[in-house]
Amino acid sequence: MSKIIVVANQKGGVGKTTTTVNLAAYLSNVGKKTLLIDIDPQGNACSGLGVDIRERSGNGIYEVLIGQKKIQEVILATKYKNLFLIPVTLDLAGAQIELLNVPRKEFVLKDALDEIREQYDFILIDTPPSLGLFTLNGLVAADSVLIPMQSEFYAMEGLAQLLKAIKLVKSGLNKNLAIEGVLVTMYDSRTNLSKQVLDEVKGYFQEKVYETVIPRNVRLSEAPSHGIAIFEYDEKSQGAEAYAAFGREFLNRVGG
Ligand code: ADP
Ligand code: MG
Repeated sequence: MSKIIVVANQKGGVGKTTTTVNLAAYLSNVGKKTLLIDIDPQGNACSGLGVDIRERSGNGIYEVLIGQKKIQEVILATKYKNLFLIPVTLDLAGAQIELLNVPRKEFVLKDALDEIREQYDFILIDTPPSLGLFTLNGLVAADSVLIPMQSEFYAMEGLAQLLKAIKLVKSGLNKNLAIEGVLVTMYDSRTNLSKQVLDEVKGYFQEKVYETVIPRNVRLSEAPSHGIAIFEYDEKSQGAEAYAAFGREFLNRVGG
């Protein structure tokens, strides 16, 4: 059984890409065949895995969304065994406008993934910091949504919009969409603020919040510039340990 998870939060800089890349690396490392789909035009998930999107032009997810390419044609192997990547392509503005004219425009990612999902244990979708048509395609295609939240003062701000979008999708376009879990990132155990935010998030999402919190750790912010996952960059770092603990907790919850 395969599972499709969209990593979403329309705020930028909350740890979506860091979480997607390192969870994907963890899952593939423990033998789960994993496909990461980057639908953020910034291409951070691609560069985090050492893939230069400029070299992939014309061979990414947008070409699939607008019907120019078959999904099978744009899947890349990565340097990690069991980990595959569909890169994003640069021409966002063009793709966004073209997508508006595509029939079933909210369902194109879902329709494409229906063809290949059974070949993977997990498919993770990294989304842009907006609730536009690309993120919507992710929410419609996914079985569940994983929400990273940065432990900072404004963490809960904007949450209502995200939950409203999820609710809308559940009421129509994807009735089975579940909340996979909420992951608190960039946690600083020395500050009361971090503790307060964690309490607030737990008060709101209850058991949906992972026990594991991801600490603020400079190694996590350095790894992407080397194009490698945290486990390869610095296996002993707090960041690597936290994402490994998160990976274990994630797998326990999904029953894998
Ligand atoms: P998003 O995808 O939500 O925009 P990112 O995962 O790109 O967020 O993270 C934003 C920035 O913060 C990046 O520069 C990233 O390297 C850094 N970062 C992410 N998580 C951590 C962390 N736990 N500790 C320190 N830096 C982090
Ligand atoms: Mg990102």
